[in-house]
Amino acid sequence: MYPDTQLYIDGQWRSALAGKTLPVSNPATDEIIGQVAHAAAEDLDLALAATERGFNVWRNTAAHQRANLMRKAAALLRERADAVAAIMTQEQGKPVAQAKIEILNAADVIEWFAGEATRTYGQIIPSRARDVQQQTLKLPVGPVAAFTPWNFPINQIVRKLSAALAAGCSIIVKGPEETPASPAELIKAFADAGIPAGVIALVYGTPAEISEYLIPHPTIRKISFTGSTRVGKHLAALAGQHMKKATMELGGHAPVLIFDDADLDAAAKELAQSKFRNAGQVCIAPTRFLIQQGVYEAFVEKFTAAVRELKLGNGLEDGVTMGPMVLGRSVDNIEALVQDAIAHGAKASTGGKRVAGKGNFFEPTVLRDVPLSARAMSEEPFGPVALLRPFATYDEAIAEANRLPYGLAAYAYSRNIATVNALGRDVESGMLSINHIGFGLPETPFGGVKDSGHGTEGGSEAIESYLETRFVTVAGR
Ligand code: NAD
Repeated sequence: MYPDTQLYIDGQWRSALAGKTLPVSNPATDEIIGQVAHAAAEDLDLALAATERGFNVWRNTAAHQRANLMRKAAALLRERADAVAAIMTQEQGKPVAQAKIEILNAADVIEWFAGEATRTYGQIIPSRARDVQQQTLKLPVGPVAAFTPWNFPINQIVRKLSAALAAGCSIIVKGPEETPASPAELIKAFADAGIPAGVIALVYGTPAEISEYLIPHPTIRKISFTGSTRVGKHLAALAGQHMKKATMELGGHAPVLIFDDADLDAAAKELAQSKFRNAGQVCIAPTRFLIQQGVYEAFVEKFTAAVRELKLGNGLEDGVTMGPMVLGRSVDNIEALVQDAIAHGAKASTGGKRVAGKGNFFEPTVLRDVPLSARAMSEEPFGPVALLRPFATYDEAIAEANRLPYGLAAYAYSRNIATVNALGRDVESGMLSINHIGFGLPETPFGGVKDSGHGTEGGSEAIESYLETRFVTVAGR
């Protein structure tokens, strides 16, 4: 049912040269379900040499041909979505329906970037002399090193992979050791579609060892990382030291602003689904719920009722809408944050406890009247806890929304056009969704500001960070 995962290097699936592996466990049952190959420097050397060769092949492959191959991989992934979803749920825990959506979305991302491959336009710049032609070319930046986490095992890779391939780059992906087999299925779709050897490598191992080896390496020209702000700052510094381009998708602590004139029923229902999707292990998850005084009690009641309808359990079982957390240490962290908030005066309107027995389960939790002194109001919970508190005025809500160094996603509900227009200007975040949940489409930007990182992984700007601009000026003599 659950496959062991090998490294993919130079077009071959193979074990680490030293034969080392790491165990993979099922977060719903605590059982060891498989093994993943653990790469060392000698494996990375093979991947680096292959990625250099792969880059030379891929950058000389016509954009339309690259796009066709990408579309073929997307089609294979779609065909295999049910089988891959079952693998993902066993290693990652999310309900199998959510895993399938992630896989189908990944196919959309590949297809969208396939289109982008054919639109990497340069410019002709009017010249000052009649016989001079000035032009810019958009060229692939070179081999990429990508580092991705366990919360969306496929989707965190596919945006980096697709943008790199569309641009003509080769790429070494350091996948998540906790959830390795579903990403391997993504890479298999490309391998089966006929991607030339060396264009993609997939490795696993000790994250710090791999990043510290790959980032300074002269073969690697661009870094992309998704994960915590703490690690992101470290890797961005390393990239800067070696003058490598870097895209950083880091943590968040998304504010949600609910105004007196909001559609409370829609807000409660949509936010309950969004908050607890993937057990809250989502960088854009709504987290700090700021609710205007006049509707505070009504919203707390409606939102709590919607959250109580969630069904916690093993994601392979029918009807389950929230699975376990991926890591045991995440449950400890959430438990400590919830206990600290309660000690500071917050009250649980539902949930609040870990679930005894096997698996990394924590109840979907709503905390109301959470004071700013609670650690959770400042530290990213990255789990199934919603923090609710009232506000009086627009200015007060904006000040709280912008208080933290994070600036990834924000949400708001209001029917007042003046409020809605002002929010777009005033909330410091890379993304703002008003009166619905509308993030994560391939064609729209995805990225943060401030400590949430820089660069976007969606929309027409996403491919830019995998391209460099070359200026060529020619005199017609
Ligand atoms: P962590 O900071 O230890 O690790 C986060 C991710 O970075 C993991 O995938 C890990 O393998 C990787 N990583 C860690 N050190 C690395 C290094 N030196 N080089 C390369 N990669 C490295 O945190 P954790 O306990 O695994 O996860 C919890 C925190 O991670 C959350 O609080 C959240 O901020 C963050 N996170 C964010 C996202 C996201 O989508 N932005 C996804 C997963 C985790």
